Amino acid sequence: MSALMILREGYPIAFCLMSGILGAILGSFLGVVVERLPARVMAEDAATDSLMYPASHCAQCLHLLNWWENIPLFSWVLLRGRCAHCNTAIPLRLLVTEGLTLLFFALSCWYFPAPQAFLSLWIVWCALLPLTLIDLRHLLLPDAITQPLLWGGLLLSAITGRLPLVDALYGAVAGYLVLWLLYWFFLLLTRREGLGYGDFKLLAALGAWVGWQALPTLVFFAAVCSILFYFCSRRISGELNVIPFGPGLSLAGLTVLILQLSDSGL
Ligand SMILES: [Zn+2]
Repeated sequence: MSALMILREGYPIAFCLMSGILGAILGSFLGVVVERLPARVMAEDAATDSLMYPASHCAQCLHLLNWWENIPLFSWVLLRGRCAHCNTAIPLRLLVTEGLTLLFFALSCWYFPAPQAFLSLWIVWCALLPLTLIDLRHLLLPDAITQPLLWGGLLLSAITGRLPLVDALYGAVAGYLVLWLLYWFFLLLTRREGLGYGDFKLLAALGAWVGWQALPTLVFFAAVCSILFYFCSRRISGELNVIPFGPGLSLAGLTVLILQLSDSGL
């Protein structure tokens, strides 16, 4: 931690640029997680691609990527967004994932020079970005991401003490319970499932990062985001029966964490 602080203090611009590069590389991996994890969760057999194997390839022609086709951001621009082998379009979302992670990593250590602040933001980002993208496409919030996020939040509060451990623990329990109760209330009232178990686990994880006191604000903000999202996507794509709650929760959680960190002056 202190070595990071010395580097950040001594060479702020270089440090933030390097952080951005790290962000682009991690963003590239997050893109792989978004592409491959849902199939693994849903298939429940070992035949689907793991996160590490096979190596990066074109989804259409299975052509294995050379090193120069696999550089975050640059390769997409170099190849003009198409596979060099079969000319199939490479999804724009991969470029967006890498670009956003680069920006977020660089900006977070620029505005929050304390290592425990920007490292917290990086960890949370690496969980929330794939969760958002997976929930939007598959209505799924995999345990493989929500559970480590919860343990990570508790552990970091124990190590750094930014948030009292008791607040983080109550945050996790209350986060789960609130949505679980709402789920049953809604189910008994309307005989429809309004929320998924993934939503409870995600709010539990976020509760561990922001503490129980911040949960009402977080849930309110998440609900507003989801309602806005519902109306916007209805205008664009017409009928829409289910709205994922994960993206709203993620956006609200990240915003509350950023506000808390700026309040604490880190
Ligand atoms: Zn191809």
